[in-house]
Formats: sequence, C-alpha cells, structure tokens
Amino acid sequence: MAYTGGQLNELNGKMGISDPFMSVPVMKIIKVHKPKSKDALVQLIEYHKLNECKCGIVSTGTVKEFGARLYESQIEYWNEYKYSLKDCIQWEYDLFVIQSLKGGNIEKKAIKLLKSKLKRNKVEEAQGYLDESLRIDIIIYDLEQNVVGGIQVKPKTFKSMRPEVLYMQKKQNLKWGYPVWFLFYNRDESFEDLDELLETIKLCN
Ligand SMILES: [Zn+2]
Repeated sequence: MAYTGGQLNELNGKMGISDPFMSVPVMKIIKVHKPKSKDALVQLIEYHKLNECKCGIVSTGTVKEFGARLYESQIEYWNEYKYSLKDCIQWEYDLFVIQSLKGGNIEKKAIKLLKSKLKRNKVEEAQGYLDESLRIDIIIYDLEQNVVGGIQVKPKTFKSMRPEVLYMQKKQNLKWGYPVWFLFYNRDESFEDLDELLETIKLCN
C-alpha cells in the first residue's frame, strides 16, 4: 500500500467517509455474521448494501464505493487529487476490512493483557446491549462483582474522527453512568498509554 503519511487518514476522518452511520457499522457485521476471511467481510458489506438482511444492519456502499467517496472528497478538501482512486480504495479496504478484522482479535488481546495486569479486578468482554448501544468493549469489575468502568478499544486513527462522532460516542457513554476509558492501539497492534490506564483503573477500586 502506498505510504500516505497520514493524509488519507485525515481526509477520511474530516470528511466522515467511514463514520458508521454514513458508511457501514462494520464491527456489528463482524459480531453478527462472524466472517472467516477478508473476502467474506468484503462480500458481507456488499450484501448489506444490496439486500435487507434480517440482522437489520444497512451498508450505504461497498468497500470500493467508500474508496471512490474518499477519492472524490479530495477535491472538496484539497482542491486537487493527491491520491489515485486505487490508493483510496486500498486505503478504505485497509480500514474497513484489515483493521476491522484485527479489531476483534485486538479486543481479545486487550482482555488477556488486562486480566494479567489487574489482579484485583475481573475483566470481561461486554456482551449485547452494552456493547451495541454504548460501544463498550470491555467491562471492569471489582472482586465483589461491582462495575468499576468500561473500556473501548479503538485504533489510534479513531482520534482523528469528526468531533460529532466523538461527541455521540461520549453522550452514549454517559448514559451508562460509569467511567469509560479508551484503549488505543497502534498499527503494529501495540497499545498506547496502557500503564496510565492501569493506574487509573487501580485508583477506581
Ligand atoms: Zn446481516
């Protein structure tokens, strides 16, 4: 993949190309349909554009179309095409397919890691309602099974999402009434500021 120096990430974030409600809630598709391969996920995204799936998830396009949207948005944002259509499609493929599939694994990796580091807490994967409407991935309990807080595991690229998306996320988290922390991961799947998060959680016990 062409090195874009983060420019396409900025463009994608600012123009909202991959906002779940403007594109497809891809993590939901993965949870519901459990694709076994990258190709299967590409097909699933297309299926949810062309068909009314009984799961209720709707996609506004295919991965290729998201790439085309990114490509076209360059004019509005930069007044010129800096990247080819091919680069843009590849970029969205990387985001929607490769990074998203990684996302599921990275959640599991985060849980394992947190479990090993937080001896005075229970660490569990969020299921169902919490997960879907509040976007919480991991729930932290104390040893008496009281909720301490929740964690959202997000790629570092999430930080460049449009403020509206971040605000919506915050608002949804507030409904829950417990602290919600972000755990960001890098491209190489290492976690950012993990020690700070661990300290924060320990202080909440
Ligand atoms: Zn479906």
